[in-house]
Amino acid sequence: MAQWFAARAQHPGALVFFRMGDFFELFFEDAHKAGELLGLAVSYRGEHQGEPIPMAGVPAHALEGYLARLIRAGLRVAICDQRETPEQAKARKAPTIRREVVRLVTPGTVTEDALLEGSRPAWLLALCPCEGSLGAAWADLSTGAFRTEVLSEAELAALLARLEPAEVLTPAALEGHAALAPWAERIAAAEPPRDPARDLAEFYGVATMEGFGAFQPAELGAAAMALAYLRATQGEAAPRLRPPEPAGGGGTLRMDAATRRSLEILRSERGDTRNCLLSAVDRTLTGAGARELAARLACPLAEMAPIAARHDAVAALLADAPARATLRGHLKGAPDMARALARLSLDRFAPRDLAALRDGLARAEAMAGFLHGRPLPVLLEDAAAALVPEASPHAELDRALAENLPARIEDGGVVAPGYDGELDALRRLRDDGRAAIAAMQMDLAQAWGVASLKIRHHQQFGYLAEMPAAAGEKLLRAPPEPGPMAPVHRQTMANAIRFTCAALAELDRKLAEAGQQAAKREALVVRHLRDLCLRAAFGIDASAQAMAEFDIHAAAAELAAGQRWCRPELVDRPDFCITQGRHPVVEAALARDPLKGAAFVPNDADLSPGRRLCLLTGPNMAGKSTFLRQNAIMAVLAQAGLFVPAESARIGLVDRLFSRVGAADDIAGGRSTFMVEMTETAAILNQATARSLVVLDEVGRGTATWDGLAIGWAVLEALHDRIRCRAIFATHFHELTALTGKLPELAPATMKVREHRGEVVFLHLVAPGASERSWGLHVAKLAGVPREVVARATAVLAALEERARGLDPLAGEMPLFARAAPAAPAPEPEGPDPLRAALEEIDPDTLTPRAALEAVYRLKALL
Ligand code: ADP
Repeated sequence: MAQWFAARAQHPGALVFFRMGDFFELFFEDAHKAGELLGLAVSYRGEHQGEPIPMAGVPAHALEGYLARLIRAGLRVAICDQRETPEQAKARKAPTIRREVVRLVTPGTVTEDALLEGSRPAWLLALCPCEGSLGAAWADLSTGAFRTEVLSEAELAALLARLEPAEVLTPAALEGHAALAPWAERIAAAEPPRDPARDLAEFYGVATMEGFGAFQPAELGAAAMALAYLRATQGEAAPRLRPPEPAGGGGTLRMDAATRRSLEILRSERGDTRNCLLSAVDRTLTGAGARELAARLACPLAEMAPIAARHDAVAALLADAPARATLRGHLKGAPDMARALARLSLDRFAPRDLAALRDGLARAEAMAGFLHGRPLPVLLEDAAAALVPEASPHAELDRALAENLPARIEDGGVVAPGYDGELDALRRLRDDGRAAIAAMQMDLAQAWGVASLKIRHHQQFGYLAEMPAAAGEKLLRAPPEPGPMAPVHRQTMANAIRFTCAALAELDRKLAEAGQQAAKREALVVRHLRDLCLRAAFGIDASAQAMAEFDIHAAAAELAAGQRWCRPELVDRPDFCITQGRHPVVEAALARDPLKGAAFVPNDADLSPGRRLCLLTGPNMAGKSTFLRQNAIMAVLAQAGLFVPAESARIGLVDRLFSRVGAADDIAGGRSTFMVEMTETAAILNQATARSLVVLDEVGRGTATWDGLAIGWAVLEALHDRIRCRAIFATHFHELTALTGKLPELAPATMKVREHRGEVVFLHLVAPGASERSWGLHVAKLAGVPREVVARATAVLAALEERARGLDPLAGEMPLFARAAPAAPAPEPEGPDPLRAALEEIDPDTLTPRAALEAVYRLKALL
């Protein structure tokens, strides 16, 4: 218990998994907590301060599965393992085996496949406020990736939304920061070390970090925090981390958290990972490729040359379908070398990780062979050159690893016969033992005169000669003369008696020793293979990244080929001209649902100079949001280096993207819809530049009509006159179209709707001009609002429109609403009206033409 309390004191925030023989046990509250989460029975054992100690356990071999569930529930686990054998403890006369916490398992520091999502990075993010700025460093221990950036505190929410970190290290100075509130469950407290630059330089074995890039103190602080945490959680194993890469701001397309949510880039608005942009465009075949694609979509670029290089790569693979098919054939099912390498370096690996490197490198070699001599665009050429690492351990692994690998190294049989002479000899000795046992069985049967004697192996006693009770008793009564074969009684059972003898004991000892030695030798060979791989780690890592590079571009080409996507033309002017653009997620959803029978209707968008601001009107459900989002997504895809779902696209580089479409509720944050909407609008007006792209849906919908119209009006003017960005502004305030005359770059557009036999048909088509009506009542009817309510609303609407005609707010000069006093109240229904009663009785759907004519006469008479 003293050992347990020591571990508990060392890691107060973690569940302590305490190794006892074949089990990991949990005690006290840990037992109850884990018992509940994992469905374990809680028992009681011993006493502590007069109370029985609650206890629950899991078998050691099943540890990974249990950890996975706890980590997913956001918990941390301290693994307190046995550090010596009982014999060793006895030898040093210690009362108990030495136990120590060898590893802290936390959501941001796991490497086991069972605990990781194959297609998403698992970032550990460290934050370090320093000298007025905020340093961020994020590391993925499972692949060795490590990046840093300096940002302002206002940009923290955007960074969190972009990375979706598995765990966040924050110092006390940041505690209570609003941006961290949604990540509360993933936060671990940590402080930056005293001398970050020295810690880092020491870890990387360099005199200074400057060789890796120009880091600011805040970045070094954060990087050192992440490193210290990784080292503390991994026990003695040294984490393998690439040197940190500073991001250096400028080159990326900035998007805030609200924009990411609204565009559903890595997850849908509901929070799941299906039905998001990533899932709709992901055609990658490997985990590393999928992770890289997610990272690129989360953080597109904002510089021409690197984007064009990516487009060149996609174009080359699009043009050469057979080459693409061959490469994808090699990539399909390729193992995750980066993650295998990470487990190897942490000494937490299984035979399959060595096999992963062997097979991954074999595929990389095959790809390199295929690509040899082919002209390639520069990104692919660089990747091709990195496919085969120098001093590749492939051939060695190929010779060394057995055909059928065991699950664990201790199970034996990892190393193939013929690879290591000494291991072969020891194994032969062990296996020859079987023949020796057979021979000894015959010898003993003869010497003891018991034909039915059998030599069997027992877990506890080793090899023993066993015979039926009658034969055994006879032997006991008349033992043969002394000598190496003289029987020694060991055990009497119900039907059998077991013996040994000096010769058998000697053979047993030899065999056990040979087995042990073979295992020891095998472990040594495996260690040699691990070292071999780690020495080549840099090259293997580069090879894994090169494969991911091929995967990502081949996947983009595959998508472009299958879905008729085009290469976007990126220009330095603030153009934005899309023909026949589509929304990849909505299009895929429609295609999946043949019952709807509707194909996606492509739409053009032109926000080029002279018509930078598109004012979009149209009823709800007509496709406004889809149109807004699809154009924002065009910019994301193009600048991430992918092709776009359109016939043609010319896009002037976007520096910041703002999208405010869809739900703006912040129920958890306790702000009203309107408050959220205004905060987000403020962010746009304060941050957008002439190079930004803004798509805005119904600003001002959360407040009273005139307020909303006034705000929408002013925002539109600010975008047009002051910010001068490209924007699509959707509104249900038709009055705003009156601005067309006043704002020269405002181009009105509307969602086409057709009326057919009193029903609206949404054509999902964007056309120039403004819509005359809002069709809200039709949508209400479609949605199943009771007939009488719709009828009543129709009457109220007519009355309202009648009154509004007298006070058109847009007729006069500015200030706009001088005459526009409060909105006219809805007319009070006046007493029972016979005309109305008669009208309400009529059901047009059931009238014959003749009855209809009669009805008209009847109504006229009532006037
Ligand atoms: P709004 O924002 O105008 O209320 P949405 O953009 O949410 O409308 O679109 C409503 C539905 O119409 C979508 O869920 C989709 O099924 C369909 N839709 C939208 N745009 C298109 C389109 N271009 N082609 C086909 N269907 C579309």
